[in-house]
Amino acid sequence: MTTNRRSFLRNAGAGAAALSLSSVLPSVAAAAEPQAGQAINAGGRTATNYLPLPANHKREGWPIASELKSKRIKYDTPQNQISWAYMKEMRENNKTRKIYPVNPYVEVYTLRENAYELFSENCDGLGDFFMHLIVGPEKAMLIDCGYGLGDVKGLCDQLSGGKPLIVVNTHEHPDHAFGNCRFDKVYCHEYLAPYLAQQNAHMFDYLFDDYGDNIWLQFDKKDLPTFKKYEIAPVKDGAIFNLGPGYDIELVFTGGHSAGHAGFLDKRNRIFYSGDNICSDVSSCGSINVPGRGPHGEQTELKVYRDNMKRLVDRMDEYDYVCPNHFMTNLENSLMTNILEACDAVLANPEGYDYKVEKWNKGGAGSTIRYYKFIRGFSVIAYGYNKA
Ligand SMILES: [Zn+2]
Repeated sequence: MTTNRRSFLRNAGAGAAALSLSSVLPSVAAAAEPQAGQAINAGGRTATNYLPLPANHKREGWPIASELKSKRIKYDTPQNQISWAYMKEMRENNKTRKIYPVNPYVEVYTLRENAYELFSENCDGLGDFFMHLIVGPEKAMLIDCGYGLGDVKGLCDQLSGGKPLIVVNTHEHPDHAFGNCRFDKVYCHEYLAPYLAQQNAHMFDYLFDDYGDNIWLQFDKKDLPTFKKYEIAPVKDGAIFNLGPGYDIELVFTGGHSAGHAGFLDKRNRIFYSGDNICSDVSSCGSINVPGRGPHGEQTELKVYRDNMKRLVDRMDEYDYVCPNHFMTNLENSLMTNILEACDAVLANPEGYDYKVEKWNKGGAGSTIRYYKFIRGFSVIAYGYNKA
């Protein structure tokens, strides 16, 4: 089945039905938009909490009530409707949600007694994200730094009671690693190091237009970090980080979504923090046969992603839950076999995709096609594929 961008949204709805979660899915077409000033039942808040929406506002799904200092201007891509419904439910009704004055850009959710999900809105037009903080007996670990909007370190220190902090990255994308410069040292898989080394003082420029105005997300420019060089500490697959007696976290190489991608296995809480390799919006790997950019570009190929997924399936007795960096989280490990199944189906027949999306590149650079295959009971896997 082939489709354009419009029917992508329809397919997202079909995915929702397949998940048997349609009862919590707001019908976007049928839902009456709350009028300005009209009270709505959202955790005791009113519609006046919502960002005033310009007529051409590119929103996808219902607005989400939020007390964050940031305000969404627009998204660049359609957001998966079932993931959107999940996030709306979580952000408006999860009773553990807290915003600390030290960082008004982060909603803190308690995941476990000693583990937090730090939600922040994406500074560019892609999906909003979580950073993860694990507080061990002696040290704490921060998995990914977002854009570093607001005092990320101060927030971690407050939550951990000032324990020494180990900072690690899953991969180099801006919403995971641009905040690294708020810290002195960041650990990563060895393949990731050369990508992180490319960061520089101009990396935030793309968030602003020629007038210096924010393009996708309203926030105070002064709350972005000032770029500084920091120590990039590359480690090998299987490296262990010790947070104190009986508390080990293992870096697991999971190249696929990006070349140096890693997940982190919390052996005590039996959680696998999976980065962007697994996502209820789109589980996205690079390509069947077009290497990604940079010195380890071949690590983004679908067969690499597949083999890394197989290793995670083989280790399912070591974790019960999977926590991605975007959208649905605290997922049961059983979805791993379904992702592997989808990878195998695509590799056996790259033409057997469920739909494709063609995106027009800016500056007359033609178009790019991404192919999508449904993952049973979850979301979709996206891949590039050069037929020639
Ligand atoms: Zn990413």
